Amino acid sequence: MTDGPTYGFDTLQIHAGARPDPATGARQTPIYQTTAYVFRDADHAAALFNLQEVGFIYSRLTNPTVAVLQERVATLEGGVGAVCCSSGHAAQIMALFPLMEPGRNVVASTRLYGGTVTQFSQTIKRFGWSAKFVDFDDLDAVKAAIDDDTRAVFCESIANPGGYITDLDAVAKVADAAGLPLIVDNTSATPYLCRPIDHGATLVVHSTTKYLTGNGTVTGGCIVDSGTFDWSASDKFPSLSQPEPAYHGLKFHETFGPLAFTFHGIAIGLRDLGMTMNPQAAHYTLMGIETLSLRMQRHVENARKIADWLEKDDRVEYVTYAGLPSSPYHDRVAKICPRGAGGLFTFAVKGGYDACVKLVNALEIFSHVANLGDARSLIIHSASTTHRQLTPEQQEAAGAGPGVVRVSIGIEDADDLIEDLNRALNAATK
Ligand SMILES: *Cc1c(COP(=O)(O)O)cnc(C)c1O
Repeated sequence: MTDGPTYGFDTLQIHAGARPDPATGARQTPIYQTTAYVFRDADHAAALFNLQEVGFIYSRLTNPTVAVLQERVATLEGGVGAVCCSSGHAAQIMALFPLMEPGRNVVASTRLYGGTVTQFSQTIKRFGWSAKFVDFDDLDAVKAAIDDDTRAVFCESIANPGGYITDLDAVAKVADAAGLPLIVDNTSATPYLCRPIDHGATLVVHSTTKYLTGNGTVTGGCIVDSGTFDWSASDKFPSLSQPEPAYHGLKFHETFGPLAFTFHGIAIGLRDLGMTMNPQAAHYTLMGIETLSLRMQRHVENARKIADWLEKDDRVEYVTYAGLPSSPYHDRVAKICPRGAGGLFTFAVKGGYDACVKLVNALEIFSHVANLGDARSLIIHSASTTHRQLTPEQQEAAGAGPGVVRVSIGIEDADDLIEDLNRALNAATK
């Protein structure tokens, strides 16, 4: 089919980027389990290596199964192109890589996935990059944090886990005024609930490990480019606007226009960093994406019901879910993610640390795992697991205090999930 703006999300999540296999007519996208592709002749090979012709060379760079997924996610996000890679964390490095140099920094929200905080505050220092963390509700603080060495602004649309929604339009304005790209991690929302590019984002990153795959089988990541940023407007992005020595002096922006970032991601990012998504992973994620809208509708419906039930329960101290009218971020739902506030939230159990440990042990349907965005319901007690090394004060600041659990609500029967929680809360608070 030809993809066009006339097709709705439910149609595009099944068809975008895919067509019956030209060699066999296979209706489902085959898993092209191959590392290399035969050149037609020496001229064809030369044209491919010169990026004069788009085609397949070697699967570290491109693979037909992965290419379908790239086009699908780009279409659903409203971008011009996308690069898939081996994990969500790889996607973050791949998104920053063309923009950064030693001495440069990224201004990032304090409300980020825990692993991203570690990646940004510690690991990227080895590249000579740094991150400045600020409260993205304080736009003056975001402006003040931006300096001559800043090369990107980074936040999550719906931030995991505290029921926080970023005012993307307001943050995009600040980034725009500073001539900087806004990168939005849209993992928790998915393009079904939120399309950051519509709110001014330059790049969207995903952990496809989560809702896009939706069944807890494979890790993956993706970077979608809006194609709207002018990389040549300043001298801040020489890897895109100037002759790139890593690709025999090619000027990516001049040569590829709106596709500059995507071509750079493949020709230099994947070629030299090698964080490649394998075709099996792309296959599982393509299977998952076909039902994304249906699953997200149910995740949201279940999360709303369960958050509402928990908030009214005497054994529970508080619930942080933007879908609840009591949330300070409830007003942003209609603006940023009108189809719902997602499937993640935290709640505090009366009885603190010990009660949370008992709750997690007593649950039967909910699994105690360090993952989210699965079809099945998941729970984690951060203070005794992922945030164990932090002091109680640091845990509180991260929204992961000793008495708090994070849930990723699945697509099971809501009544069964409520009964599971009811039984486990009895055991926890007796
Ligand atoms: C899981 C997650 C990541 C990291 O993704 P991996 O696929 O685990 O590397 C980044 N951001 C968010 C919001 C996530 O939930």
